[in-house]
Amino acid sequence: MSQTKISLFLVPTPIGNLRDITLRAMDTLQAVDVILAEDTRTSGILLKHLQISKNLQSYHSFNEHKAVEKLVERMKKGETFALISDAGTPAISDPGFLLVRAVLAAGLEVQCLPGATAFVPALVASGLPNDRFVFEGFLPHKKGRKTRIDALLDETRTLIFYESPHRLLKTLEQLAEAFGADRQAAVARELSKLHEEIARGTLVELIDYYQVNPLKGEIVLVVAGCAEQRETRAEKQEKKQAEWKKEKKSRKEID
Ligand code: SAM
Repeated sequence: MSQTKISLFLVPTPIGNLRDITLRAMDTLQAVDVILAEDTRTSGILLKHLQISKNLQSYHSFNEHKAVEKLVERMKKGETFALISDAGTPAISDPGFLLVRAVLAAGLEVQCLPGATAFVPALVASGLPNDRFVFEGFLPHKKGRKTRIDALLDETRTLIFYESPHRLLKTLEQLAEAFGADRQAAVARELSKLHEEIARGTLVELIDYYQVNPLKGEIVLVVAGCAEQRETRAEKQEKKQAEWKKEKKSRKEID
């Protein structure tokens, strides 16, 4: 069986606990010609820990546009690359999308390894419905922030945000204002690290908690979707079902 050659591997790296690196991630990092890293210093420390010594090249959001074309040319000549970010899965709120798109457009193969990412454990441990969810990544800091929040007013799926600790209180307040203070939410902090903590409650309860306990570390904010619309939909469905039952009954009577 012939296997297509992979030109670009996206390799997840730990979001805290270094033991979350996978065996396959290590094999892949060993096997490629070049490792592209968001921050060569941060990744250098990880690679040293994993005893992988490899040609490391910088690939970050500032040089992404410029770098893509040259990298694709090198891949066409047969070089293989692994892209890693500072933590988690590359291209998830990290650089990578432009490169993946360009590599695929050039008719080359891309493979993303399964592995560490912050939003999945945050969602699952939040205790909020996870059958359907929306990953919002980082909200814009200023322009467009309110528009993005307003666009989510009727969203019934569970919402996931990445947020910096010093902006969390402001975000919780804005979300409470938009969605209502009693909306359920969870803040997952320092996942996989020593001080991992998941705080669950309504938006107002979380605001009260973080006013007293200032937040440190990295966080994922998970917010329940809008329940009213679900109810409205269910009501509509019930009404339609009742209408259909009535219709069926009257049809039988005519027959
Ligand atoms: N690529 C990463 C991933 O797959 O999750 C995300 C990179 S993004 C630049 C960094 C954000 O991810 C942080 O600001 C935080 O919201 C979240 N994050 C990363 N590590 C985390 C951790 N250990 N605990 C909680 N959130 C984390």
